Amino acid sequence: CGIVGYIGKREAYPIVLKGLQRLEYRGYDSAGIALYDGENLNLCKTKGKVADLKKKFDETTSTKGNVGIGHTRWATHGVPNDVNSHPHYSNSGNLAIIHNGIIENYATLKKELQKRGYNFLSDTDTEVLVNLIEDVMINEKVKLGKAVQIALNQTVGAYAITVFDKRKPNELVVARLGSPLAIGIGEDEFFIASDASPFIEFTSNAIYLEDGEMAVVRLGKAIKVRKIQDDSLVDPYVQELKL
Ligand code: GLU
Repeated sequence: CGIVGYIGKREAYPIVLKGLQRLEYRGYDSAGIALYDGENLNLCKTKGKVADLKKKFDETTSTKGNVGIGHTRWATHGVPNDVNSHPHYSNSGNLAIIHNGIIENYATLKKELQKRGYNFLSDTDTEVLVNLIEDVMINEKVKLGKAVQIALNQTVGAYAITVFDKRKPNELVVARLGSPLAIGIGEDEFFIASDASPFIEFTSNAIYLEDGEMAVVRLGKAIKVRKIQDDSLVDPYVQELKL
């Protein structure tokens, strides 16, 4: 399983697709990509290989956009099928998430959200998390980064996540606990991935998040890394990658 993200000036699709191919060695049963083209968040996902995803994109979905998030899934909650594949959207359609790992208390969280009127299309723990983040944003009137932090502090489990809000298309919010997550730092562009292989051809500067850390990755800004649990700022170590 793996995650890939891109935000910048290039076309995101070829970078994310190729990135997913480079992460194929990690094993997976499904793949998917969401792309933001400045107006719409277009989604294509499928059970099967990254090659099947490419074919489905060619037949059904626009590949335009300078922001993209992609995922290869190793199913833990919900059978491998198209609907359970990632990315997942929140009920409003504003948020998209990719997630490697397991939210162990998803059933309890899901029941509470269902009581508050949330609907679920998939059987995944991940779709619960993205709606929990949405619910926090609405109820506590906080921005995406804060909402991700509050939501993650209500979860038990493991994750590497990337979250995108189409109302704030210049940023990605990422977090890790128990699953790897690297941020590649380019010039006016950022890359997210499970390891550096998807972005090493574009930049040699990377931050590897430690367990329990999250980051807001915003174009034109320095990356802010914080501890998820207590909100303290972490001075991130920018590593120089060697080919
Ligand atoms: N628990 C999530 C799911 O079953 C993510 C699995 C993964 O790590 O790919 O959809």
